[in-house]
Amino acid sequence: SEPLKSASMTMPTPVLSSHSGPPPAGTQQQQVKKSPKDFIFGKLIGEGSFSMVYLAKDIRSGKEYAIKVCEKVHILREKKQKAIMREKQIMNILNDHPSPFFIKLFCTFQDTDRLYFVMNYAKHGELLPYIIKVGSFDEECTRFYGGEILLALEHLHKLGIIHRDLKPENILLNEQMHIQITDFGSAKVLDNSSDLNTVNARKNSFVGTAQYVSPEMLTDKSAAPSSDLWAMGCILYQMVSGLPPFQASTEYLIFQKVIKLEYDFPDGFHPEAKDLVQKLLVIEPSQRLGATDEGGYSSIKKHPFFRDMPWENLHNETPPRIL
Ligand code: ATP
Repeated sequence: SEPLKSASMTMPTPVLSSHSGPPPAGTQQQQVKKSPKDFIFGKLIGEGSFSMVYLAKDIRSGKEYAIKVCEKVHILREKKQKAIMREKQIMNILNDHPSPFFIKLFCTFQDTDRLYFVMNYAKHGELLPYIIKVGSFDEECTRFYGGEILLALEHLHKLGIIHRDLKPENILLNEQMHIQITDFGSAKVLDNSSDLNTVNARKNSFVGTAQYVSPEMLTDKSAAPSSDLWAMGCILYQMVSGLPPFQASTEYLIFQKVIKLEYDFPDGFHPEAKDLVQKLLVIEPSQRLGATDEGGYSSIKKHPFFRDMPWENLHNETPPRIL
């Protein structure tokens, strides 16, 4: 029907062809517009609220990809056009400014009924089941994965992007067990006019996930890069203790705890990790550690918890085994 042809639903060009200059080595085949026929679709690897993600093989190259498939009627019914376009826009920015800590979008295409996002396949899936399986990470794992999350946020924030829904389900793990962050459907690109690098969400449009949402996103519906640092504080806490800090039986009760900063540390919580979490879980966004470093996060990197961290080379290190 007509609405499916609206401009906001068309995804015409392969992402790589929008790059200036010659294509990176080995990507020549991306110049030709792909279609579903170029892939063999395999098992379902994940489901989102308006998408299915399949493992797929490129017939020509034999390479494996994760392809996110979104039904257009479903997107229109759920009014997710903007979220989908934002996701593509942000993944394109990340293609222009690559970092190993993010899922890469290779190309997009569509047929009459569906949109397709061809991404690299993060073989080991989400971080969450690993935390659940081992109960809690040891200090070495928490440092390593906390460090990679921090480098990923530093990169994102330098590009003026706030993720706004950082959580262990959106932190995927590649074959070598390094992190690759995904899910930019709630993310926001700051523009130069954004006051003090904060953005106001539309009234009543709750973004994020209750356990990781920052107080400013609840109280004045605004987000800043340090809103992601709050989420990182929650994830560090969860890696050490097994559960996120703010828990309750309903979202409303979780929100009450978040805005009152009502949480405790279990006995035996690693003292330096505790100090770092306390410096990130601060109600006032500008008072969070790293918030005033102008995107560099040097104060977090210098925190004793991250002592002797090989920041420049973390993505080439062999990750500690999660036991
Ligand atoms: P929602 O749309 O409700 O926010 P979501 O963002 O998790 O959910 P998708 O992006 O469609 O939805 O992803 C669904 C699931 O598929 C993810 O949670 C993840 O487990 C898996 N997945 C997504 N992308 C990849 C990828 N590149 N590699 C491996 N697994 C992936």
